[in-house]
Amino acid sequence: MYDIAIVGSGIACSMTLCHLAERLRDKPVQTEMLRIGIIEKEGEMWTGVPYGRRSVIGALTFQKLQEFLEEPERSCYIEWLRATAGSWLQTLREWGGSGAAKWISDNQSLMDQDKWGELYLPRFLFGLYVSSQAACAVEELSRLGLASVTRIQGEAVGISGMSGRPRAIDVEDDRGARRSLHAARVVLAIGSPPQKAVQGSAVTGRPSHVYINDMYSPSEIASMYRIQKALSALPDKTSANLLILGSNASALEALYLINHRPRIRHRINSIVIFSHSGLLPYKISEETVEFRLLALEELRIAASFCAADLMAAISSDIRRAEALGLNVADLRDLVGAAVNQSIDLMHVREQERFICEHGVNYSRMMRRAGRDTRNAADELVDQGILTTVRGALRRLEPFPSGSGLMRAIYTLADEPAEMTYPLPFRITINCGGFEDLDYSSSRLINSLVSNRICKVNSTRRGFLVDENLKAGENVYVIGPLVAGNFNDRIRFWHVESASRISGLAKLLAESLFDSLFLSSEAAVSSTMSFKEDVTSVVSPSSL
Ligand SMILES: Cc1cc2nc3c(=O)[nH]c(=O)nc-3n(C[C@H](O)[C@H](O)[C@H](O)COP(=O)(O)OP(=O)(O)OC[C@H]3O[C@@H](n4cnc5c(N)ncnc54)[C@H](O)[C@@H]3O)c2cc1C
Repeated sequence: MYDIAIVGSGIACSMTLCHLAERLRDKPVQTEMLRIGIIEKEGEMWTGVPYGRRSVIGALTFQKLQEFLEEPERSCYIEWLRATAGSWLQTLREWGGSGAAKWISDNQSLMDQDKWGELYLPRFLFGLYVSSQAACAVEELSRLGLASVTRIQGEAVGISGMSGRPRAIDVEDDRGARRSLHAARVVLAIGSPPQKAVQGSAVTGRPSHVYINDMYSPSEIASMYRIQKALSALPDKTSANLLILGSNASALEALYLINHRPRIRHRINSIVIFSHSGLLPYKISEETVEFRLLALEELRIAASFCAADLMAAISSDIRRAEALGLNVADLRDLVGAAVNQSIDLMHVREQERFICEHGVNYSRMMRRAGRDTRNAADELVDQGILTTVRGALRRLEPFPSGSGLMRAIYTLADEPAEMTYPLPFRITINCGGFEDLDYSSSRLINSLVSNRICKVNSTRRGFLVDENLKAGENVYVIGPLVAGNFNDRIRFWHVESASRISGLAKLLAESLFDSLFLSSEAAVSSTMSFKEDVTSVVSPSSL
Protein backbone atom coordinates (compact mmCIF):
# COMPACT_ATOMS: atom_id res chain seq x y z
CA MET A 1 0.00 0.00 0.00
CA TYR A 2 1.42 3.37 -1.03
CA ASP A 3 0.78 6.69 0.67
CA ILE A 4 1.02 8.33 -2.75
CA ALA A 5 0.99 6.73 -6.20
CA ILE A 6 1.95 8.98 -9.09
CA VAL A 7 0.87 7.77 -12.53
CA GLY A 8 3.29 9.08 -15.19
CA SER A 9 6.87 10.20 -14.65
CA GLY A 10 7.21 13.26 -16.89
CA ILE A 11 8.25 16.70 -15.66
CA ALA A 12 4.91 17.15 -13.86
CA CYS A 13 5.79 14.16 -11.67
CA SER A 14 9.47 15.12 -11.27
CA MET A 15 8.73 18.70 -10.30
CA THR A 16 6.01 17.64 -7.84
CA LEU A 17 8.38 15.15 -6.22
CA CYS A 18 11.12 17.78 -5.90
CA HIS A 19 8.75 20.27 -4.24
CA LEU A 20 7.35 17.59 -1.96
CA ALA A 21 10.87 16.54 -0.94
CA GLU A 22 11.67 20.17 -0.12
CA ARG A 23 8.49 20.49 1.91
CA LEU A 24 9.12 17.28 3.85
CA ARG A 25 12.74 18.20 4.50
CA ASP A 26 12.02 21.76 5.67
CA LYS A 27 9.09 20.91 7.93
CA PRO A 28 9.59 17.35 9.12
CA VAL A 29 6.37 16.30 10.85
CA GLN A 30 5.92 12.65 10.14
CA THR A 31 7.20 9.79 12.15
CA GLU A 32 7.03 6.99 9.63
CA MET A 33 8.73 6.79 6.28
CA LEU A 34 6.27 7.55 3.47
CA ARG A 35 5.85 5.12 0.58
CA ILE A 36 5.65 6.74 -2.83
CA GLY A 37 5.12 4.63 -5.97
CA ILE A 38 5.69 6.00 -9.47
CA ILE A 39 3.98 4.09 -12.29
CA GLU A 40 5.47 4.65 -15.75
CA LYS A 41 4.58 2.75 -18.91
CA GLU A 42 7.68 3.69 -20.92
CA GLY A 43 11.30 2.82 -20.26
CA GLU A 44 12.47 6.24 -19.09
CA MET A 45 11.90 8.19 -15.91
CA TRP A 46 11.52 11.90 -15.07
CA THR A 47 11.53 13.46 -18.56
CA GLY A 48 8.22 12.53 -20.23
CA VAL A 49 7.51 12.99 -23.93
CA PRO A 50 9.21 16.30 -24.83
CA TYR A 51 12.39 16.22 -22.74
CA GLY A 52 13.60 12.63 -23.03
CA ARG A 53 14.29 9.93 -25.59
CA ARG A 54 10.89 10.17 -27.26
CA SER A 55 11.99 13.51 -28.76
CA VAL A 56 15.12 13.84 -30.88
CA ILE A 57 18.19 15.44 -29.34
CA GLY A 58 18.01 18.43 -31.64
CA ALA A 59 14.34 19.30 -30.89
CA LEU A 60 14.08 22.81 -29.45
CA THR A 61 11.83 24.53 -26.93
CA PHE A 62 9.10 26.67 -28.44
CA GLN A 63 10.08 29.70 -26.43
CA LYS A 64 13.38 31.21 -25.33
CA LEU A 65 14.60 30.31 -21.89
CA GLN A 66 13.49 33.64 -20.43
CA GLU A 67 9.89 32.60 -21.10
CA PHE A 68 10.34 28.87 -20.65
CA LEU A 69 10.89 28.99 -16.89
CA GLU A 70 10.11 31.47 -14.12
CA GLU A 71 12.54 32.47 -11.40
CA PRO A 72 14.03 31.05 -9.23
CA GLU A 73 14.03 27.84 -11.37
CA ARG A 74 15.42 29.70 -14.36
CA SER A 75 18.58 30.81 -12.57
CA CYS A 76 19.15 27.33 -11.14
CA TYR A 77 18.78 25.87 -14.63
CA ILE A 78 21.16 28.45 -16.12
CA GLU A 79 23.72 27.64 -13.47
CA TRP A 80 23.45 23.95 -14.38
CA LEU A 81 23.71 24.79 -18.12
CA ARG A 82 26.90 26.78 -17.53
CA ALA A 83 28.44 24.13 -15.30
CA THR A 84 27.74 21.23 -17.67
CA ALA A 85 28.15 23.00 -21.04
CA GLY A 86 31.30 21.09 -22.03
CA SER A 87 29.58 17.75 -21.74
CA TRP A 88 26.16 18.54 -23.27
CA LEU A 89 27.67 20.50 -26.18
CA GLN A 90 29.74 17.46 -27.02
CA THR A 91 26.64 15.20 -26.87
CA LEU A 92 24.79 17.64 -29.09
CA ARG A 93 27.65 17.72 -31.62
CA GLU A 94 28.01 13.94 -31.67
CA TRP A 95 24.34 12.95 -31.80
CA GLY A 96 22.36 15.96 -32.95
CA GLY A 97 23.14 15.84 -36.68
CA SER A 98 23.26 18.84 -38.98
CA GLY A 99 20.41 20.68 -37.23
CA ALA A 100 22.28 20.64 -33.93
CA ALA A 101 25.53 21.71 -35.62
CA LYS A 102 23.70 24.69 -37.12
CA TRP A 103 22.08 25.46 -33.77
CA ILE A 104 25.49 25.54 -32.06
CA SER A 105 27.04 27.81 -34.67
CA ASP A 106 24.00 30.14 -34.73
CA ASN A 107 23.85 30.38 -30.94
CA GLN A 108 27.49 30.13 -29.83
CA SER A 109 27.90 33.89 -29.49
CA LEU A 110 24.83 34.17 -27.20
CA MET A 111 26.28 31.41 -25.02
CA ASP A 112 29.71 33.11 -25.00
CA GLN A 113 28.04 36.34 -23.90
CA ASP A 114 26.22 34.47 -21.12
CA LYS A 115 22.83 35.43 -22.66
CA TRP A 116 21.16 32.13 -21.78
CA GLY A 117 17.73 33.70 -21.48
CA GLU A 118 17.78 34.48 -25.22
CA LEU A 119 18.26 30.86 -26.31
CA TYR A 120 15.71 28.43 -27.72
CA LEU A 121 17.43 25.47 -26.10
CA PRO A 122 17.40 21.81 -27.11
CA ARG A 123 14.69 20.23 -24.98
CA PHE A 124 16.72 17.21 -23.88
CA LEU A 125 18.84 19.59 -21.75
CA PHE A 126 15.87 20.36 -19.57
CA GLY A 127 15.25 16.62 -19.33
CA LEU A 128 18.80 16.05 -18.09
CA TYR A 129 18.45 18.88 -15.60
CA VAL A 130 15.07 17.74 -14.24
CA SER A 131 16.27 14.13 -14.03
CA SER A 132 19.26 15.14 -11.94
CA GLN A 133 17.00 17.16 -9.63
CA ALA A 134 14.53 14.29 -9.26
CA ALA A 135 17.31 11.76 -8.61
CA CYS A 136 18.70 14.05 -5.86
CA ALA A 137 15.24 14.40 -4.31
CA VAL A 138 14.75 10.61 -4.24
CA GLU A 139 18.18 10.08 -2.71
CA GLU A 140 17.63 12.77 -0.10
CA LEU A 141 14.18 11.49 0.89
CA SER A 142 15.66 8.06 1.43
CA ARG A 143 18.81 9.28 3.24
CA LEU A 144 16.78 11.41 5.66
CA GLY A 145 14.34 8.57 6.28
CA LEU A 146 11.45 10.66 4.97
CA ALA A 147 10.18 8.58 2.07
CA SER A 148 11.02 5.63 -0.14
CA VAL A 149 10.30 6.08 -3.84
CA THR A 150 9.59 2.93 -5.87
CA ARG A 151 9.45 2.75 -9.62
CA ILE A 152 6.65 0.60 -11.01
CA GLN A 153 7.04 -0.30 -14.68
CA GLY A 154 3.71 -0.69 -16.50
CA GLU A 155 0.64 1.09 -17.78
CA ALA A 156 -2.05 2.10 -15.32
CA VAL A 157 -5.22 0.98 -17.09
CA GLY A 158 -7.88 1.46 -14.47
CA ILE A 159 -8.56 3.07 -11.10
CA SER A 160 -11.34 2.08 -8.76
CA GLY A 161 -12.13 2.00 -5.06
CA MET A 162 -14.99 2.66 -2.69
CA SER A 163 -15.47 5.91 -0.84
CA GLY A 164 -13.31 6.18 2.26
CA ARG A 165 -11.03 3.31 1.09
CA PRO A 166 -7.64 3.40 -0.68
CA ARG A 167 -7.71 3.52 -4.47
CA ALA A 168 -6.97 0.34 -6.42
CA ILE A 169 -4.83 0.89 -9.53
CA ASP A 170 -4.64 -1.82 -12.20
CA VAL A 171 -1.22 -1.90 -13.82
CA GLU A 172 -0.51 -3.86 -17.00
CA ASP A 173 3.01 -4.85 -17.99
CA ASP A 174 4.47 -5.23 -21.51
CA ARG A 175 3.22 -8.81 -21.77
CA GLY A 176 -0.33 -7.90 -20.79
CA ALA A 177 -0.06 -9.30 -17.24
CA ARG A 178 -1.99 -7.26 -14.67
CA ARG A 179 -1.57 -6.56 -11.00
CA SER A 180 -3.41 -4.33 -8.60
CA LEU A 181 -1.76 -1.74 -6.37
CA HIS A 182 -3.35 0.24 -3.58
CA ALA A 183 -2.69 3.83 -2.69
CA ALA A 184 -4.16 6.28 -0.22
CA ARG A 185 -3.69 9.09 -2.78
CA VAL A 186 -3.30 8.95 -6.55
CA VAL A 187 -1.73 11.69 -8.67
CA LEU A 188 -2.52 11.63 -12.38
CA ALA A 189 0.52 13.04 -14.18
CA ILE A 190 -0.11 11.32 -17.51
CA GLY A 191 0.48 14.28 -19.82
CA SER A 192 -1.84 15.13 -22.70
CA PRO A 193 -4.64 12.85 -23.91
CA PRO A 194 -3.81 10.55 -26.86
CA GLN A 195 -3.68 12.07 -30.35
CA LYS A 196 -7.02 12.20 -32.15
CA ALA A 197 -6.54 9.47 -34.79
CA VAL A 198 -7.32 10.02 -38.45
CA GLN A 199 -9.97 7.88 -40.02
CA GLY A 200 -9.01 4.67 -38.24
CA SER A 201 -8.52 1.60 -40.38
CA ALA A 202 -8.70 3.35 -43.76
CA VAL A 203 -5.07 4.36 -43.40
CA THR A 204 -3.79 2.40 -40.45
CA GLY A 205 -5.07 -0.85 -42.02
CA ARG A 206 -2.81 -0.38 -45.05
CA PRO A 207 0.66 -1.43 -44.09
CA SER A 208 2.08 -0.13 -47.37
CA HIS A 209 1.07 3.46 -46.53
CA VAL A 210 3.17 5.06 -43.80
CA TYR A 211 0.76 6.59 -41.32
CA ILE A 212 2.30 8.22 -38.24
CA ASN A 213 -0.43 8.88 -35.73
CA ASP A 214 1.84 10.27 -33.04
CA MET A 215 5.35 11.41 -33.96
CA TYR A 216 6.57 10.79 -30.42
CA SER A 217 5.38 7.19 -30.25
CA PRO A 218 7.48 5.17 -29.90
CA SER A 219 9.88 8.06 -30.58
CA GLU A 220 10.56 10.89 -32.99
CA ILE A 221 13.72 9.20 -34.19
CA ALA A 222 11.74 6.04 -35.04
CA SER A 223 9.18 8.17 -36.92
CA MET A 224 11.93 9.88 -38.92
CA TYR A 225 13.43 6.49 -39.72
CA ARG A 226 10.06 5.21 -41.02
CA ILE A 227 9.79 8.25 -43.28
CA GLN A 228 13.33 7.81 -44.56
CA LYS A 229 12.81 4.09 -45.23
CA ALA A 230 9.53 4.67 -47.09
CA LEU A 231 11.10 7.35 -49.27
CA SER A 232 14.17 5.31 -50.11
CA ALA A 233 11.96 2.41 -51.30
CA LEU A 234 10.26 4.59 -53.94
CA PRO A 235 11.36 4.14 -57.55
CA ASP A 236 11.34 7.87 -58.25
CA LYS A 237 10.64 11.21 -56.63
CA THR A 238 7.20 11.89 -58.16
CA SER A 239 5.32 9.94 -55.51
CA ALA A 240 7.60 11.04 -52.64
CA ASN A 241 4.89 13.24 -51.16
CA LEU A 242 4.17 13.72 -47.49
CA LEU A 243 0.90 14.92 -46.00
CA ILE A 244 0.84 16.65 -42.60
CA LEU A 245 -2.52 17.12 -40.90
CA GLY A 246 -2.49 20.20 -38.69
CA SER A 247 -0.14 23.15 -38.53
CA ASN A 248 0.64 23.19 -34.83
CA ALA A 249 4.05 23.25 -33.16
CA SER A 250 4.54 19.50 -33.65
CA ALA A 251 3.95 19.94 -37.39
CA LEU A 252 6.55 22.70 -37.37
CA GLU A 253 8.94 20.44 -35.51
CA ALA A 254 8.44 17.70 -38.15
CA LEU A 255 9.39 20.26 -40.82
CA TYR A 256 12.47 21.30 -38.84
CA LEU A 257 13.63 17.70 -38.53
CA ILE A 258 12.98 16.92 -42.20
CA ASN A 259 14.81 20.04 -43.32
CA HIS A 260 17.90 19.06 -41.36
CA ARG A 261 17.96 15.43 -42.53
CA PRO A 262 19.46 15.42 -46.01
CA ARG A 263 18.48 11.75 -46.51
CA ILE A 264 14.85 12.73 -46.19
CA ARG A 265 14.88 16.25 -47.62
CA HIS A 266 16.70 15.31 -50.83
CA ARG A 267 14.27 12.51 -51.52
CA ILE A 268 11.07 14.46 -50.89
CA ASN A 269 9.08 15.86 -53.77
CA SER A 270 6.42 17.70 -51.84
CA ILE A 271 5.11 18.31 -48.31
CA VAL A 272 1.52 19.47 -48.02
CA ILE A 273 -0.06 20.71 -44.79
CA PHE A 274 -3.83 20.79 -44.36
CA SER A 275 -5.02 22.92 -41.47
CA HIS A 276 -8.04 24.98 -40.49
CA SER A 277 -5.99 28.16 -40.26
CA GLY A 278 -3.70 27.44 -43.20
CA LEU A 279 -0.99 29.16 -41.17
CA LEU A 280 2.09 27.91 -39.40
CA PRO A 281 2.93 29.54 -36.06
CA TYR A 282 4.25 33.09 -36.57
CA LYS A 283 7.99 33.60 -36.29
CA ILE A 284 9.13 35.54 -33.24
CA SER A 285 11.35 38.33 -34.56
CA GLU A 286 11.68 40.32 -31.33
CA GLU A 287 10.86 43.57 -33.10
CA THR A 288 8.83 46.37 -31.60
CA VAL A 289 5.66 46.73 -33.62
CA GLU A 290 3.85 50.09 -33.59
CA PHE A 291 0.18 49.20 -33.60
CA ARG A 292 -2.91 50.46 -31.80
CA LEU A 293 -5.37 47.85 -30.59
CA LEU A 294 -8.37 49.98 -31.50
CA ALA A 295 -11.08 47.37 -30.93
CA LEU A 296 -9.65 46.37 -27.54
CA GLU A 297 -9.24 50.04 -26.54
CA GLU A 298 -12.83 50.76 -27.46
CA LEU A 299 -14.04 47.72 -25.56
CA ARG A 300 -12.30 48.74 -22.36
CA ILE A 301 -14.10 52.10 -22.21
CA ALA A 302 -17.51 50.43 -22.69
CA ALA A 303 -19.72 50.25 -19.59
CA SER A 304 -19.86 46.50 -19.68
CA PHE A 305 -18.93 43.74 -22.08
CA CYS A 306 -19.00 39.98 -22.23
CA ALA A 307 -16.53 37.21 -23.14
CA ALA A 308 -17.80 37.02 -26.72
CA ASP A 309 -17.29 40.80 -27.12
CA LEU A 310 -13.73 40.42 -25.91
CA MET A 311 -13.04 37.61 -28.35
CA ALA A 312 -14.55 39.63 -31.20
CA ALA A 313 -12.35 42.62 -30.33
CA ILE A 314 -9.22 40.44 -30.25
CA SER A 315 -10.10 38.92 -33.65
CA SER A 316 -10.75 42.34 -35.13
CA ASP A 317 -7.39 43.73 -33.98
CA ILE A 318 -5.43 40.67 -35.06
CA ARG A 319 -7.11 40.60 -38.48
CA ARG A 320 -6.28 44.29 -38.95
CA ALA A 321 -2.65 43.67 -37.98
CA GLU A 322 -2.46 40.79 -40.46
CA ALA A 323 -3.98 42.91 -43.19
CA LEU A 324 -1.29 45.52 -42.53
CA GLY A 325 1.37 42.81 -42.91
CA LEU A 326 2.53 43.11 -39.29
CA ASN A 327 4.13 40.18 -37.50
CA VAL A 328 1.47 38.96 -35.08
CA ALA A 329 4.10 37.06 -33.06
CA ASP A 330 5.69 40.32 -32.00
CA LEU A 331 2.31 41.72 -30.88
CA ARG A 332 1.94 38.99 -28.28
CA ASP A 333 2.92 41.05 -25.22
CA LEU A 334 0.91 44.08 -26.30
CA VAL A 335 -2.23 42.03 -26.99
CA GLY A 336 -1.65 39.88 -23.91
CA ALA A 337 -1.51 42.90 -21.58
CA ALA A 338 -4.70 44.34 -23.10
CA VAL A 339 -6.52 41.01 -22.84
CA ASN A 340 -5.44 40.56 -19.21
CA GLN A 341 -6.78 44.02 -18.35
CA SER A 342 -10.03 43.33 -20.19
CA ILE A 343 -10.56 40.00 -18.43
CA ASP A 344 -10.22 41.75 -15.07
CA LEU A 345 -12.94 44.22 -16.08
CA MET A 346 -15.51 41.52 -16.81
CA HIS A 347 -18.03 39.95 -14.48
CA VAL A 348 -16.61 36.74 -13.00
CA ARG A 349 -19.14 34.65 -14.96
CA GLU A 350 -17.85 36.14 -18.21
CA GLN A 351 -14.25 35.63 -17.10
CA GLU A 352 -15.04 31.95 -16.73
CA ARG A 353 -16.66 31.93 -20.15
CA PHE A 354 -13.59 33.50 -21.70
CA ILE A 355 -11.24 31.00 -20.05
CA CYS A 356 -13.36 27.95 -20.84
CA GLU A 357 -14.87 28.86 -24.22
CA HIS A 358 -12.63 31.36 -25.99
CA GLY A 359 -9.14 31.05 -24.53
CA VAL A 360 -8.07 28.20 -26.77
CA ASN A 361 -9.13 30.08 -29.91
CA TYR A 362 -7.26 33.14 -28.74
CA SER A 363 -4.10 31.04 -28.25
CA ARG A 364 -4.50 29.56 -31.73
CA MET A 365 -4.65 33.02 -33.21
CA MET A 366 -1.39 34.02 -31.51
CA ARG A 367 0.67 30.85 -32.09
CA ARG A 368 4.36 31.69 -32.30
CA ALA A 369 7.60 29.83 -32.80
CA GLY A 370 11.27 30.48 -32.25
CA ARG A 371 13.55 31.56 -35.08
CA ASP A 372 15.56 28.31 -35.36
CA THR A 373 12.51 26.08 -35.85
CA ARG A 374 10.46 28.52 -37.92
CA ASN A 375 13.30 29.27 -40.35
CA ALA A 376 13.33 25.61 -41.42
CA ALA A 377 9.74 25.89 -42.67
CA ASP A 378 10.62 29.04 -44.62
CA GLU A 379 13.56 27.22 -46.23
CA LEU A 380 11.26 24.38 -47.34
CA VAL A 381 8.87 26.94 -48.85
CA ASP A 382 11.77 28.64 -50.66
CA GLN A 383 12.87 25.29 -52.10
CA GLY A 384 9.33 24.78 -53.44
CA ILE A 385 8.79 21.72 -51.23
CA LEU A 386 6.25 22.99 -48.70
CA THR A 387 2.65 24.04 -49.42
CA THR A 388 0.03 24.92 -46.83
CA VAL A 389 -3.67 24.50 -47.58
CA ARG A 390 -6.37 26.24 -45.55
CA GLY A 391 -8.85 23.44 -45.45
CA ALA A 392 -9.88 20.20 -43.83
CA LEU A 393 -9.16 16.63 -44.80
CA ARG A 394 -12.40 14.69 -45.35
CA ARG A 395 -10.85 11.29 -45.99
CA LEU A 396 -7.95 9.42 -47.49
CA GLU A 397 -8.65 6.97 -50.29
CA PRO A 398 -6.29 4.40 -51.78
CA PHE A 399 -4.77 5.52 -55.06
CA PRO A 400 -5.84 3.21 -57.92
CA SER A 401 -2.28 2.07 -58.61
CA GLY A 402 -2.02 0.70 -55.06
CA SER A 403 1.53 0.64 -53.63
CA GLY A 404 0.60 2.53 -50.49
CA LEU A 405 -0.26 5.80 -52.19
CA MET A 406 -3.33 7.62 -50.92
CA ARG A 407 -5.24 10.54 -52.28
CA ALA A 408 -6.58 13.25 -50.04
CA ILE A 409 -10.20 14.33 -50.35
CA TYR A 410 -10.58 17.72 -48.70
CA THR A 411 -12.63 20.87 -48.51
CA LEU A 412 -11.27 24.38 -48.59
CA ALA A 413 -12.23 26.65 -45.68
CA ASP A 414 -15.76 28.06 -46.14
CA GLU A 415 -16.41 25.92 -49.26
CA PRO A 416 -18.50 22.77 -48.94
CA ALA A 417 -17.47 21.16 -52.26
CA GLU A 418 -15.11 18.22 -51.88
CA MET A 419 -11.90 18.28 -53.89
CA THR A 420 -9.10 15.81 -54.56
CA TYR A 421 -5.56 16.99 -53.99
CA PRO A 422 -3.58 16.57 -57.24
CA LEU A 423 -0.64 14.69 -55.67
CA PRO A 424 -0.76 11.16 -54.23
CA PHE A 425 0.69 10.75 -50.74
CA ARG A 426 2.99 7.98 -49.55
CA ILE A 427 3.27 9.22 -45.97
CA THR A 428 0.79 10.88 -43.59
CA ILE A 429 1.73 12.50 -40.29
CA ASN A 430 -1.05 13.32 -37.88
CA CYS A 431 -0.44 16.56 -35.97
CA GLY A 432 -4.14 17.21 -35.55
CA GLY A 433 -4.31 17.64 -31.77
CA PHE A 434 -5.56 15.60 -28.87
CA GLU A 435 -8.69 13.60 -28.14
CA ASP A 436 -11.44 15.00 -25.96
CA LEU A 437 -11.60 13.21 -22.63
CA ASP A 438 -15.17 11.96 -23.02
CA TYR A 439 -14.24 9.91 -26.11
CA SER A 440 -10.75 8.78 -25.25
CA SER A 441 -8.83 5.76 -26.47
CA SER A 442 -6.98 5.75 -23.12
CA ARG A 443 -8.22 2.94 -20.89
CA LEU A 444 -7.16 4.89 -17.81
CA ILE A 445 -9.08 8.03 -18.75
CA ASN A 446 -12.17 5.95 -19.60
CA SER A 447 -11.96 4.13 -16.31
CA LEU A 448 -11.75 7.40 -14.35
CA VAL A 449 -14.81 8.72 -16.17
CA SER A 450 -16.89 5.55 -16.14
CA ASN A 451 -16.10 4.80 -12.47
CA ARG A 452 -17.18 8.41 -11.74
CA ILE A 453 -13.91 9.13 -9.99
CA CYS A 454 -13.14 12.23 -12.06
CA LYS A 455 -15.43 14.53 -14.02
CA VAL A 456 -14.55 15.90 -17.43
CA ASN A 457 -14.77 19.71 -17.32
CA SER A 458 -16.84 21.83 -19.69
CA THR A 459 -14.01 22.19 -22.23
CA ARG A 460 -13.68 18.37 -22.51
CA ARG A 461 -9.91 18.87 -22.58
CA GLY A 462 -9.32 18.44 -18.86
CA PHE A 463 -10.68 17.07 -15.60
CA LEU A 464 -12.56 19.29 -13.21
CA VAL A 465 -10.26 20.08 -10.27
CA ASP A 466 -10.71 22.10 -7.09
CA GLU A 467 -8.35 24.76 -5.69
CA ASN A 468 -6.01 21.99 -4.45
CA LEU A 469 -5.86 20.15 -7.80
CA LYS A 470 -8.14 17.46 -6.43
CA ALA A 471 -10.26 15.84 -9.15
CA GLY A 472 -12.00 13.26 -6.98
CA GLU A 473 -11.74 11.56 -3.63
CA ASN A 474 -8.00 11.03 -3.04
CA VAL A 475 -7.25 11.70 -6.71
CA TYR A 476 -5.21 14.69 -7.89
CA VAL A 477 -4.35 15.89 -11.38
CA ILE A 478 -1.35 17.81 -12.69
CA GLY A 479 -0.14 18.70 -16.18
CA PRO A 480 -2.08 19.25 -19.41
CA LEU A 481 -5.26 17.62 -18.01
CA VAL A 482 -5.72 20.62 -15.68
CA ALA A 483 -6.72 22.66 -18.76
CA GLY A 484 -10.15 24.29 -18.78
CA ASN A 485 -10.54 24.92 -15.05
CA PHE A 486 -11.80 28.07 -13.44
CA ASN A 487 -11.80 28.31 -9.68
CA ASP A 488 -10.43 30.68 -7.04
CA ARG A 489 -6.85 29.55 -7.63
CA ILE A 490 -6.63 27.86 -11.01
CA ARG A 491 -7.74 29.60 -14.18
CA PHE A 492 -6.21 28.07 -17.29
CA TRP A 493 -7.35 27.17 -20.77
CA HIS A 494 -4.19 25.19 -21.42
CA VAL A 495 -1.36 23.81 -19.31
CA GLU A 496 1.03 22.66 -22.00
CA SER A 497 3.83 24.79 -20.67
CA ALA A 498 6.78 23.92 -18.49
CA SER A 499 6.59 27.08 -16.40
CA ARG A 500 2.90 26.59 -15.74
CA ILE A 501 3.46 22.96 -14.72
CA SER A 502 6.27 24.07 -12.43
CA GLY A 503 3.92 26.47 -10.60
CA LEU A 504 1.22 23.82 -10.31
CA ALA A 505 3.77 21.29 -8.99
CA LYS A 506 4.42 23.58 -6.05
CA LEU A 507 0.68 23.82 -5.35
CA LEU A 508 0.24 20.06 -5.66
CA ALA A 509 3.13 19.36 -3.29
CA GLU A 510 1.44 21.65 -0.72
CA SER A 511 -1.91 19.92 -1.24
CA LEU A 512 -0.37 16.47 -0.82
CA PHE A 513 1.54 17.57 2.26
CA ASP A 514 -1.63 19.02 3.78
CA SER A 515 -3.62 15.90 3.02
CA LEU A 516 -0.90 13.75 4.60
CA PHE A 517 -0.41 15.73 7.77
CA LEU A 518 -3.21 18.24 8.32
CA SER A 519 -6.89 17.86 9.03
CA SER A 520 -9.18 18.51 6.06
CA GLU A 521 -10.34 21.90 7.47
CA ALA A 522 -6.82 23.18 7.83
CA ALA A 523 -5.80 21.80 4.45
CA VAL A 524 -7.07 24.72 2.35
CA SER A 525 -4.43 26.98 3.77
CA SER A 526 -2.19 28.05 0.96
CA THR A 527 -2.52 31.47 -0.61
CA MET A 528 -1.10 30.42 -3.97
CA SER A 529 -3.15 31.12 -7.05
CA PHE A 530 -2.62 30.50 -10.74
CA LYS A 531 -4.26 32.53 -13.45
CA GLU A 532 -3.91 32.23 -17.18
CA ASP A 533 -1.20 34.71 -18.06
CA VAL A 534 -2.15 35.48 -21.60
CA THR A 535 1.23 36.97 -22.31
CA SER A 536 2.88 33.56 -22.05
CA VAL A 537 0.75 31.51 -24.36
CA VAL A 538 2.40 28.49 -25.93
CA SER A 539 0.36 25.52 -26.99
CA PRO A 540 1.67 22.62 -29.01
CA SER A 541 -1.78 21.10 -29.21
CA SER A 542 -3.74 23.93 -30.69
CA LEU A 543 -4.47 23.56 -34.35
C1 LIG B 1 6.55 17.48 -28.20
C2 LIG B 1 6.26 18.50 -27.16
C3 LIG B 1 7.04 19.64 -27.07
C4 LIG B 1 6.79 20.58 -26.08
N1 LIG B 1 7.57 21.69 -26.02
C5 LIG B 1 7.35 22.60 -25.06
C6 LIG B 1 8.15 23.76 -24.97
O1 LIG B 1 9.03 23.98 -25.78
N2 LIG B 1 7.91 24.64 -23.96
C7 LIG B 1 6.92 24.42 -23.04
O2 LIG B 1 6.76 25.24 -22.13
N3 LIG B 1 6.13 23.34 -23.13
C8 LIG B 1 6.32 22.44 -24.12
N4 LIG B 1 5.51 21.35 -24.19
C9 LIG B 1 4.39 21.27 -23.26
C10 LIG B 1 4.73 20.77 -21.82
O3 LIG B 1 5.96 21.18 -21.36
C11 LIG B 1 4.58 19.33 -21.82
O4 LIG B 1 3.29 19.03 -22.18
C12 LIG B 1 4.97 18.76 -20.44
O5 LIG B 1 6.20 18.17 -20.60
C13 LIG B 1 3.97 17.82 -19.87
O6 LIG B 1 4.59 17.11 -18.84
P1 LIG B 1 3.83 15.92 -18.17
O7 LIG B 1 4.75 15.33 -17.19
O8 LIG B 1 2.52 16.40 -17.68
O9 LIG B 1 3.49 14.93 -19.37
P2 LIG B 1 4.38 13.98 -20.27
O10 LIG B 1 5.65 14.57 -20.64
O11 LIG B 1 3.49 13.54 -21.37
O12 LIG B 1 4.66 12.75 -19.31
C14 LIG B 1 3.62 11.88 -18.93
C15 LIG B 1 4.22 10.52 -18.64
O13 LIG B 1 3.17 9.66 -18.23
C16 LIG B 1 3.33 8.39 -18.83
N5 LIG B 1 2.00 7.79 -18.89
C17 LIG B 1 0.93 8.24 -19.57
N6 LIG B 1 -0.12 7.45 -19.35
C18 LIG B 1 0.28 6.49 -18.50
C19 LIG B 1 -0.37 5.38 -17.90
N7 LIG B 1 -1.66 5.13 -18.12
N8 LIG B 1 0.35 4.58 -17.08
C20 LIG B 1 1.67 4.84 -16.83
N9 LIG B 1 2.33 5.87 -17.38
C21 LIG B 1 1.64 6.69 -18.19
C22 LIG B 1 3.94 8.69 -20.17
O14 LIG B 1 4.64 7.59 -20.70
C23 LIG B 1 4.85 9.87 -19.86
O15 LIG B 1 6.15 9.45 -19.53
C24 LIG B 1 5.73 20.38 -25.17
C25 LIG B 1 4.94 19.24 -25.27
C26 LIG B 1 5.20 18.30 -26.24
C27 LIG B 1 4.35 17.07 -26.30
